[in-house]
Amino acid sequence: MREIEEKAARAYRERFGEDPELVASAPGRINLIGEHTDYNGGFVLPCAVGRRVAVATGRGGEELYSTNFDETRRMGREKDSSWADYPRGVVWAFGEVGRGVGDFRATFAGDVPLGSGLSSSAAIEAATALALAAHFGLGMDRKELAVLCQRAENEFVGVQSGIMDQYASLLCEAGAALLIDCRSLEAESVPLDLEGADLTLLVCDTRVERGLADTGYNDRRAACERAAETLGVEQLRDAGENDLGHLSGEELKRARHIVTENARVLEATDALRAGDFGELGHLMYASHASMRDDFEISTRELDAFVELAEAAGALGARLTGAGFGGSAIALVRTGETDVLTRQVSRVFAERGFAEPLFYEFVPAAGAEVAR
Ligand code: ADP
Ligand code: MG
Repeated sequence: MREIEEKAARAYRERFGEDPELVASAPGRINLIGEHTDYNGGFVLPCAVGRRVAVATGRGGEELYSTNFDETRRMGREKDSSWADYPRGVVWAFGEVGRGVGDFRATFAGDVPLGSGLSSSAAIEAATALALAAHFGLGMDRKELAVLCQRAENEFVGVQSGIMDQYASLLCEAGAALLIDCRSLEAESVPLDLEGADLTLLVCDTRVERGLADTGYNDRRAACERAAETLGVEQLRDAGENDLGHLSGEELKRARHIVTENARVLEATDALRAGDFGELGHLMYASHASMRDDFEISTRELDAFVELAEAAGALGARLTGAGFGGSAIALVRTGETDVLTRQVSRVFAERGFAEPLFYEFVPAAGAEVAR
């Protein structure tokens, strides 16, 4: 078992005086390329990261405990706006699809940073869903579980999000990225052996509160819908570069990002299949420029990180996630990350930005039952 899984199991033994019947865990994720394409019916390309939320479960009782919050909550049916709403939401969603989950108790332990944009929320949902499906023999496949977790987050917890996070957490494989078609919900593994190429994904959490996030997100979504309507297509997924001439102003800029970003995801997938990390890097830089200039969701911190990464010789870099703050990633030669992180910290301090946090990853395994 992984250390974090041991931790969840240990917490279970300490609280309940016996071994858990089952231990499972699920990872956080980063998106390599494909931003704001999800709600336009397009493509995204995330990979799982080497940080996970683990859950230990056993029959009986209805206590939920998280080592991260050092807190016990009752399962119950009611929301209480705490972390326990995530496992509650998953149980609720099982009920909604007619799969009854019996009484159980569970302990959680996670090392996915909360609220850093690595999707600890999808990790706790995916770990819970996989554990309960195994525990109660619910016979659902991983795609079904991912859709169920998304439903828990959207409808029970009340956070709107696409399918990427839950798909990534449940379906990613070690040493691979996951190409997701957000319209058909088809997904396929794409090799991404960064270790073999001596490369690392460096995540920079700028720790900028995503203040404008909600309005900014809704505005972008509305502009994309207007552009699709002008073009007479169902979603911008169905538009190509040749169509852009029919648009102008804000709609043109927003649509140009979506249309070119969808193309970049598919080009990135081809590049990965060919093991061409240089090309992947170029596409990452182009993606960032498109989000900065056309979709207008970057910040000075995210731009600064990408510029510093490029100056330091990173193969590629871009903001990742919805933008307006949050995190950026860079594809860096292993061993060159320290120089870059020191440089970024120094420049951020000089400019009066918040002190950034850094994480290093290679693509990790998706959710697993450990025991
Ligand atoms: P992100 O998904 O970007 O990390 P969110 O705000 O969507 O940020 O989700 C974070 C929330 O998920 C936490 O505040 C907590 O409620 C829940 N969560 C994540 N990991 C754990 C954990 N190990 N134990 C309990 N709750 C967790
Ligand atoms: Mg989340």
